[in-house]
Amino acid sequence: MNTLAQLKKYSAELVDLHHTLALMQWDQEVRMPRRAAEGRAGQFATLSGLVHRREVAPELGALLIQAEAQKESLSVEDRALVRVMRRSYDQNTRLPEEFVAEFSRLTSQAQMAWLEAREQSDFAIFQPLLERLVVMARQQAEYLGYAAHPYDALLDLYEEGLTTAQVESMFVELQAPLVAMVKRFAGRLATLSFAEPFALAGQEQFAQHLLVAMGFDFSRGCLARSAHPFTTTLGHHDRRITNRYAAKSLDFIFGALHEGGHALYEQGIAESLANSHLDDGVSLGIHESQSRFWENVVGRGRPFWQRFFPELQQAFPAQFAHTELDVFVRGINAVTPGLIRVDADELTYNLHVLIRFEIEKGLIEGSLEVGALPRVWRDKYRQYLGVEVESDADGVLQDIHWAHGSFGYFPTYTIGNLAAAQIWEAYKKYDPGFNQTLASGDLAKVKGWLAKEIHSHGSVYLPQELLVRVTGAPLSAKPFLAYLEEKFGTLAG
Ligand code: ZN
Repeated sequence: MNTLAQLKKYSAELVDLHHTLALMQWDQEVRMPRRAAEGRAGQFATLSGLVHRREVAPELGALLIQAEAQKESLSVEDRALVRVMRRSYDQNTRLPEEFVAEFSRLTSQAQMAWLEAREQSDFAIFQPLLERLVVMARQQAEYLGYAAHPYDALLDLYEEGLTTAQVESMFVELQAPLVAMVKRFAGRLATLSFAEPFALAGQEQFAQHLLVAMGFDFSRGCLARSAHPFTTTLGHHDRRITNRYAAKSLDFIFGALHEGGHALYEQGIAESLANSHLDDGVSLGIHESQSRFWENVVGRGRPFWQRFFPELQQAFPAQFAHTELDVFVRGINAVTPGLIRVDADELTYNLHVLIRFEIEKGLIEGSLEVGALPRVWRDKYRQYLGVEVESDADGVLQDIHWAHGSFGYFPTYTIGNLAAAQIWEAYKKYDPGFNQTLASGDLAKVKGWLAKEIHSHGSVYLPQELLVRVTGAPLSAKPFLAYLEEKFGTLAG
């Protein structure tokens, strides 16, 4: 077998192992009985330890050196495979095996503690685990290495090359215009409220209907329930999503569109990249651009609801029989500074991310103690959003990310929002009749363009490179701010 064939075999084996870990994770969040937690934590530690050993094997290092020597003769895809496997190998060889196993065990325990702490709205239950997680995340940054700031090492795990300084300047560009727009538009669009609860089965059915309409392939994926909606990949033909359902909220719609956007990305990856390191979205930021594209740009737009509102009325007559389309569209875009990130409108959302970024940066550089988080959280929410945090559950405990051991993840949400608006500008050039396309429900046209331009490439191109190929420009806050200005200006008249 030649070098490249050996490398591809190695890649497929590692991908199989990671999909097995993903299956265990899926089960933990969707079905696992609570008392299985400790046993599962041990299983994670064992399996991820074995996987890590395969990922740092000298055999793989030698294969990569051989493949790199032949780089000039390789196809674009094969060269990308070598690059992505090299990045992963370098990241993994910098982390000792005992560290990886211990981190895995700790995050498994932390997730259970987080669930309990959130249920009881008591940060003290989660605090000791979060303290250990922060220590380990700082250790992780030291192992991985960084040029300017330890947080750089963690950002780079999710968005290749992203630095603390870049995130800071992104928020400088965004913060003042966002705060000004929030002032202008807060309370200008009437919110929707519902006297009657949405039947649970009806919510799930409508979510499923929207997923089919946007092109989610249920023969290659499924929809389940969990505390925090997510998308995961268990195989090239197995891309799963979860959603959550509340009695009097429209989360079931926007959760489905959001996770559906992630899943379409994954389902759209070319067959030629199956079971390799390229069979994945290129970065979390680009991934989030796809979920935000469907959730907000498409799913909160009037044209989309011209097509789907009559069906929503039919599915939920008690809530919508007497509601006008325009009232509904203004309602789903209402600007209301609030406590919960996942419920935030498009204008306030990135301020929630800014708060998390500042906290994470403080925790990792050591300028902020875990014990101070509930107080710091309350202060920042008062300062940036003008809201009072009443409980830990609606405050510092609302996100699962830290329990997963993920620090440096949150900024990719804002990158996703910016990239979604920039990609939308490119789509409008391709399809000048975009409003008619959406109003007629021709979502296949939109999905087809995204698949061709973005999804099919998997991880072949670097995130910035892909964005330039699709939109002709590197990431910028300008298209996002222009999109918001036009949208909210129109909605508020
Ligand atoms: Zn997402």
